[in-house]
Amino acid sequence: MKIFGFKGGVHPADNKSQTENMQTERISMPKMLYIPLIQHIGTPLEPVVAIGEKVLKGQKIGDSKAFLTSPIHSSTSGVVKKIENYDFPLMGKTRTVFIEPDGEEVWCELFPIKTWENATKEELLEKIRECGIVGIGGASFPTHIKLNPPADAKIDTLLLNAAECEPYLNSDNRLLIENTEKVIMGIKILKKILSVENVVIGIEDNKKEAIGKLELALKGTGINLVVLKTLYPQGGEKQLIKAALGREVPSGKLPLNVGVVVQNTGTAAAVFSAIVEGKPLIEKVVTVSGLAVEKPKNLIALIGTPISHLLDTCEANKEVIDRLIMGGPMMGMAQYTSDVPVIKGTSGVLGLTKKETNRCKPRPCIGCGKCVDACPMGLMPIMYARLGEFNLWEEFKTYNIMDCIECGSCAYICPSNRPLTESIKLGKAKVRMMK
Ligand code: SF4
Ligand code: SF4
Repeated sequence: MKIFGFKGGVHPADNKSQTENMQTERISMPKMLYIPLIQHIGTPLEPVVAIGEKVLKGQKIGDSKAFLTSPIHSSTSGVVKKIENYDFPLMGKTRTVFIEPDGEEVWCELFPIKTWENATKEELLEKIRECGIVGIGGASFPTHIKLNPPADAKIDTLLLNAAECEPYLNSDNRLLIENTEKVIMGIKILKKILSVENVVIGIEDNKKEAIGKLELALKGTGINLVVLKTLYPQGGEKQLIKAALGREVPSGKLPLNVGVVVQNTGTAAAVFSAIVEGKPLIEKVVTVSGLAVEKPKNLIALIGTPISHLLDTCEANKEVIDRLIMGGPMMGMAQYTSDVPVIKGTSGVLGLTKKETNRCKPRPCIGCGKCVDACPMGLMPIMYARLGEFNLWEEFKTYNIMDCIECGSCAYICPSNRPLTESIKLGKAKVRMMK
C-alpha cells in the first residue's frame, strides 16, 4: 500500500532494545490491589461491592448508568478491605477499591459469545461494555461508544494503531509477537461491528519481528499492513490517519469526520478476550525500563498492582530515579509516588536517571523555528512560550492551542530548552476555564 507520511515529527532515541526481545512474564501477586473507580474518559463509577465482601476474579466492582462510562472488575479473587481515596497516576487521589487477594484466583462465571459471527452488533457492543473494554493505547475512551458512531458518520475504514512510537515501550509490540492470532481475531470482530471492508494496520518499521508475524498471519484475511518509517508521534490518531491513509482530519474534527475509526491493536486483543472468552479487562502488558531499572522487562500485571511492585520485580534502584514516569518519556505522566497502581491505560513504567532526563536550565529563545518545523499539528509552539511568559492566555486561542496533542516534539527539539510543555499545558487549562 502507498505510504503518505505526515508533517513534522522528531526522532528521539527509541531505547526499545532493552526490552524488545524480552518475552512477557507474569508478575507475582501483590499483597493488595488498588483499583481506581475511574479508568476511562468520562464519569467516575460507583462501587457495586461493599467493604468486607468476598469477590471473585472478573467480578464487576464498579459501574454507572451515565453514558460515557465503562465498568471495572476485580483483577483477582479476595476480600474488599476498603473503598476510599488513594493515589492515582493521572492526578492526585481518586476513589479506589482495595482488594486483598486470597491467592486462589477463582474466576466468576464467564459468558462468552462463542458464535460471535452470528451475534448482532448490539449484542457485541453490550458485551464489550460489560467487560470494561477501553482504548488501552493511553486515552482510555470507552470502546463500545467509539465503535458506535452517529448514523450520519460514513465510516468506511478501520485503522489499527500498532505504531507504539513512544521510546522505551514494547507492550503493544510484544502483544503482537506473542498473540498475533488473538489480535487478528479481535480485528475481525471489530470489522463486523463497524461493517467496513477496508481494514488497515499501521506499524512502524522498527518492529521487524511483529511485522514478520503479521505478514504471515494476515495472508488471505483481506487486512492490509502498512509499514511506516519510524517517526514520533506517528501513533497520534490524526498523524496515523495521514501517514497510513493520506486523509487529513481538519482542526476541531474527529477521525469519524473522515470516515475512519482508529483502534489500538491491544484493544483488539482485549475485544477478543471479552467476546470469545467472556473475560473482562483486568490485566495489562507493561514495559518496565529506564537506566534506573536493573532488569528491564515486559510484565503482565493485574490492574491495581502498585508500580512499586513492578519496580521491585525489575530490581530498580529507586535512589537514582530522577523521574518516575507512567507511560512513555514524551507523553507519559510523571509520578510523585510509586504507590500508584497500574490502570487500564498503563503501557509503561520508566525509572529514568539524571543522564536520561538531562534537565538543563532554559535559555532565551533564539528564534530558530525548529519547534514550528517539528510540530505535527502545524502549530506555532514558539508563541506559546512567549505568551505564557507574559500570562497572555487569551492569545493562546488565536494560536489554536486546543489542537495541540501535547506530544512534546517542540520541547524535545528546542535547543534553548524553553519550557514549552509547561506553557502549553497551563495555556490549555486556562483556555478551558475561559469557556
Ligand atoms: S505544540 Fe503541541 S502538538 Fe505541536 S509539537 Fe508542541 S506539543 Fe506537539
Ligand atoms: S525551538 Fe526553541 S529556540 Fe527555536 S524558535 Fe522554538 S522556542 Fe525558540
